[in-house]
Amino acid sequence: MGIIRSGSRLFDLSVPVVVIGAGACGCSAALAANERGADVLIIERDDPPSGSTSLSGGQIPAAGTKLQKAAGIEDTPEDFATEILEKARHQTDAEIALAVSRGSTVSVDWLVDTYGAPLEVLTDFFYPGHRKHRMHGTPNRDGAELLACLLEAVSREGIDILTAAVATDLHADEVGKVTGVRIRRPDGSREDVGCGALVLACNGFGGNPVMVREYIPEIADALYFGHAGNRGDAVTWGLELGAEVADMGSYQGHGAVATPHNTHIGWPSITEGGIMVNAHGRRFSHENRGYSEQAIDVIRQPGNFAWTIFNATAHDVALQFSHQREAVEVGAIRVAESFDRLAAITELPANALAETLADVNDILAGRKADAFGRDFGDKAPLEPPYYAVRVTGALFHTQGGLVVDPEARVLRRGTRQPLPNLFAGGGAARGLTGPSCWGYTSGAGLMTATTLGRLAGEGAAAVLA
Ligand SMILES: Cc1cc2nc3c(=O)[nH]c(=O)nc-3n(C[C@H](O)[C@H](O)[C@H](O)COP(=O)(O)OP(=O)(O)OC[C@H]3O[C@@H](n4cnc5c(N)ncnc54)[C@H](O)[C@@H]3O)c2cc1C
Repeated sequence: MGIIRSGSRLFDLSVPVVVIGAGACGCSAALAANERGADVLIIERDDPPSGSTSLSGGQIPAAGTKLQKAAGIEDTPEDFATEILEKARHQTDAEIALAVSRGSTVSVDWLVDTYGAPLEVLTDFFYPGHRKHRMHGTPNRDGAELLACLLEAVSREGIDILTAAVATDLHADEVGKVTGVRIRRPDGSREDVGCGALVLACNGFGGNPVMVREYIPEIADALYFGHAGNRGDAVTWGLELGAEVADMGSYQGHGAVATPHNTHIGWPSITEGGIMVNAHGRRFSHENRGYSEQAIDVIRQPGNFAWTIFNATAHDVALQFSHQREAVEVGAIRVAESFDRLAAITELPANALAETLADVNDILAGRKADAFGRDFGDKAPLEPPYYAVRVTGALFHTQGGLVVDPEARVLRRGTRQPLPNLFAGGGAARGLTGPSCWGYTSGAGLMTATTLGRLAGEGAAAVLA
């Protein structure tokens, strides 16, 4: 795994634009490059492709889209960029945040209008960090649905995907121009494919335990819930090529993965007034600051778990997610018709749990302020039937990566100068989260995947012109 300095070597096969990875980023890049007349080859380790995209909730935030306008929602990418920066405490790149926010408006309209992506705006709850309804999801809020649509579009456009092909090395010349990609096939054979421009769409390093421990030790012992094949190759190659990386300790966590069932619970269980309690029956955080930072709070509780407790209204809103329905089917979400039943199911100390619920209902009724600073809004009280699920915190994907400019060009270390023909997006590029997990804006993963992917594809095609 590295860089082969092969100068002007001739390859057996050459393709103008090569894209490594067939998730949301790689498919967006390939479609965009293809639209600009470039021949494209996607190289993907899996057969069939899945990636973190297919494991995800499939929701893309964007502000000012046609779908929002049709739903009567007034929103601007500039407002969204401000919220992204606020969430990241102004410790991310403001220029990229604005470019991605503006680009996401274009990307969502583009995916819907040009490729028939079955997206709709979610209007029945607000994700943390969103002041407007701006999450665009597939009918079942399911990333597999999103990826199926993108892969269908790729196939319809006649773009080649080489599956069961792991990119192991890049060929590059002495000035850092990428000239090709070495791939390994399942039978151990190797092939070298030349290219005029390369898009790294192979996500981050969540699937590489050594890199996670090196860069993000606080989450290294937690469950990794993303795609195992994302092994940090973009960072490894980039560093060797002299690229800049940033925010390597940053990640998107998730505080509500049902354990031991391993399915993630829809966040409306929290946004609609649900809480989390630890093994002592006590709350321990402002649960709705963000699902990302809640992961580490849950992991730090005794036994590394918590119980999420919510009411029927919250459950009904969360049921729009295929993963929530899955959690019901596998028995992860339990229903308690009374407080005594809730205490029995959860095996939590009944007195402490009763105090916690009474306290939350006092806050909900406006009789007191929350000690953790959470504003519950006008949500319904926590009363029977109670819904309860035992959860743990997990690493969903890493947010550190290659530093790119607003055109998704990978920048050289210590300069603002791009490498000659290398592009990156999605989890391969530095995200919008800043240095840690708390800066993650809901949905930033697929926003950077689709938008930086699209921009990378456009840029890669332009390099050839
Ligand atoms: C459970 C879960 C839920 C999520 N929900 C959401 C959500 O609702 N909204 C949101 O915005 N984000 C969500 N995310 C984050 C989101 O899934 C990712 O940010 C996004 O999918 C990244 O897209 P990508 O194309 O960069 O990576 P991926 O979809 O992971 O694609 C990368 C591809 O590269 C391939 N690959 C890697 N290395 C190589 C190599 N060397 N050679 C060949 N192929 C290679 C992989 O096999 C993979 O197919 C969620 C994540 C998880 C885990």
